[in-house]
Order: sequence, then structure tokens, then C-alpha cells
Amino acid sequence: MPGGTPATRTLVGVLVENDAPLAPLTTLRLGGPARRLVTAHTDDEVIAAVREADAAGEPLLVLGGGSNLVIGDAGFPGTVLRIATEGFALDGTALEVAAGETWSEVVRRTVVDHELAGIEFLAGIPGSAGATPVQNVGAYGQEVAQSVTEVVAYDRAADEVVVLSNAECAFSYRHSRFKAEPERYVVLRVRFRLEDNGGLSTPVRYAETARHLGVEQGERVAVGTAWNAVLLLRAGKGMVLDPADHDTWSAGSFFTNPVLTAAQYDSFRTRPGAEDAPAYPAPEGRTKTSAAWLIDRSGFGKGYGSGQATLSTKHTLALTNRGSATAEDLLALAREIRDGVREAFGVELVNEPVMVGVEL
Ligand SMILES: Cc1cc2nc3c(=O)[nH]c(=O)nc-3n(C[C@H](O)[C@H](O)[C@H](O)COP(=O)(O)OP(=O)(O)OC[C@H]3O[C@@H](n4cnc5c(N)ncnc54)[C@H](O)[C@@H]3O)c2cc1C
Repeated sequence: MPGGTPATRTLVGVLVENDAPLAPLTTLRLGGPARRLVTAHTDDEVIAAVREADAAGEPLLVLGGGSNLVIGDAGFPGTVLRIATEGFALDGTALEVAAGETWSEVVRRTVVDHELAGIEFLAGIPGSAGATPVQNVGAYGQEVAQSVTEVVAYDRAADEVVVLSNAECAFSYRHSRFKAEPERYVVLRVRFRLEDNGGLSTPVRYAETARHLGVEQGERVAVGTAWNAVLLLRAGKGMVLDPADHDTWSAGSFFTNPVLTAAQYDSFRTRPGAEDAPAYPAPEGRTKTSAAWLIDRSGFGKGYGSGQATLSTKHTLALTNRGSATAEDLLALAREIRDGVREAFGVELVNEPVMVGVEL
């Protein structure tokens, strides 16, 4: 790893680097180094590295593809454990993947090689398979909560490997038990139940995808057609990684879509312009609105910003690094947008990426 001190092998042969740059391991490509970077290729190596850090009272950061992380400029003063495990086992429609597998490749294989449905609308989402249950990854009307059957994880509190059922994962919108208890579980494997619909997709749920495919919402299309459409739509928004395109040097959506209580929604609707805001029913009588809409209508259009951190020129919800941004540059922009939306609409935007050593 450039910039770090020479790598050594300890534990069960795990690769360890000291003072290792983390920015190249994240899609935002910013932030400081790790005091220690451990790369684990098997579940045993993962568990051994976690046990060693825990026994030493050392802070631990689990790293997959680094596509949902904002690492502070001071870096991480502990062990960063990079999960590089491999494994893709398909038995009929039952799929088990190792946490270190690349998610977009997992989706491609299930769709293109096996014509199975269930995760086809989650095409092109960067990062690892093991991180998908963490924030219940979702896009275009699908989320992993709909197809995950079990998650195999190392429970740091109990010091044992546990198998959590779908219900035990406590999935909700961009949230789960793993996110609620970030110090507790390290995901080792994820099990899915896919669908064999004779080559057809799950019903097209999202209006934009239905329009693009020329079908009604609720209809099915060939699963490969759905996968392809999602990749095209995502690429048009800078939501498929492309190292040459700074619009994709991001953490995806920087803010979650606000889910407002009835009282909050009533108050929001009294703000000038709010009557046009997108509104979708959410559980417990709440209403979900669009963070991208709020940002745009608060005066932050595509490409907003003048320094090294700006909004994507393709999507108002992605905060991007134009080449040499620091974490502080990015956070200054994020705070300006959060405060501007609060002032215009009285809604508090919440960051989606995980903050490491920094706060919004
Ligand atoms: C261009 C772009 C588009 C995106 N589009 C979407 C989208 O459409 N929908 C969506 O939901 N997300 C999207 N994201 C966000 C991101 O891709 C997902 O959240 C992804 O699942 C993160 O995976 P990762 O391996 O990169 O996780 P990392 O960024 O490495 O880690 C994220 C968090 O998960 C934890 N973690 C990672 N692996 C494990 C593990 N094995 N066990 C326990 N904890 C773990 C980390 O400690 C950290 O807290 C997008 C990001 C980018 C850059």
C-alpha cells in the first residue's frame, strides 16, 4: 500500500499494514490513514482479527468496499479490518455469499448466469455483499430485507458465530440491527431466497423504471432487461462507479429521505412550495418525502458548490469529491445543505453514510 510502512503477516497469516492510507479504499477517496490495516481472506481470519483487537481494547472499523463511509482527515486510531472473503454458493434459489464478495457482481451472476429474480433492481450498487444487510440496501422499489433469509455473523459481545433470521435482523428503511448495534456484529455470510420466475423479474414497483421499460407498475419483464434498465438509469445519475467520472466519487445518496410524523408533515406542508413535495405513505402513519427534492428546492441545484467538494452534476443527493477534497470540505458542504433545508422547510436531513471520527 503506497504511503504506509512495510506490511507484515501476523495472527494466522493475515496481512497487516501500519499507518495505511484509507482514502483509496473508499469511493469518496478522502480521509486520513488507519493506524493499522488488516486484510482478512477467510472467516477464521476475520474472527481472529476481531478477537485480537477486542482483547487489546483497540478501536475496530470493519471495512467492505468503502462506499458508505466518510473517514475524517485524522484517519482511524485503531484497527481497520478489510473483509476480503470469497464465496458464492447457489442451490436452486437458495444463495449464500461471503461478506467480501462484490455486491454488483453477485447480482450480475444471479441475473445473467442464472436468470433468477429477487435482487435484480439492486444492480450496480457499489460495495460488498456483507454490508448489504447493514443499512438494508435498497433501490428502485427493492431492498435486501425482501430476500435475505439469514445472516451469519460474529457476535463480539457473546464471542461466538450466530445465525440471525430475517426477523432478528430488524430491517427497516436504510436500517437494521447491525446499524443499531454497530459495535456488536461482523457479518460473515448472507443467505438469500431468490425467485425462479421462468426468467421474469419481480414486479416492477418503481414508477421511473416502469416508464423506462414501457410497462405498467406491477408488471414483470425479463429479469435481464430489468437489470440492464437499472444499470442504465443509475449510470445516468452517476450512481455506478466510474473512476474517470468525479460525479461518482461519492458515497451515493448523502442524506436519507426524511420520514415525517403526521405532526411534522402538517407543519412541513405550511412552508411555501411544500405543497408540491413528493409524499409516500410510510409505516405508523408517517409520510416519506424526497431529500433530493428538498435540497433542490432549497437552492442547491446539481453541481452546487465551488470548491473541491460539490454536489454531483447529475444528482442533487450525491456529495462528491472533485479530486482533492478533504473530509472537512465535504462536511462543510453537507452542513450548508442540511442547514439550508432546515431553514427553508423545517426538515432535518440525516446523513446516510457512516461517519468515522467526524460528525455532521
Ligand atoms: C455511487 C454509489 C451509489 C450507491 N447507491 C446506493 C443505493 O442505490 N442504495 C443503497 O442502499 N446504497 C447505495 N450506496 C451506498 C453503499 O453502496 C451501500 O451502503 C453499500 O452496501 C456499502 O457497502 P460497503 O461494502 O462499501 O460498506 P462500507 O462503506 O465499507 O461500510 C459501511 C458500513 O457497514 C459496515 N460494514 C461493512 N461490511 C461489514 C460487515 N461485513 N460486517 C459488519 N459491518 C460491516 C462498516 O463498518 C460501515 O459501518 C451507494 C454508494 C455509492 C458510492
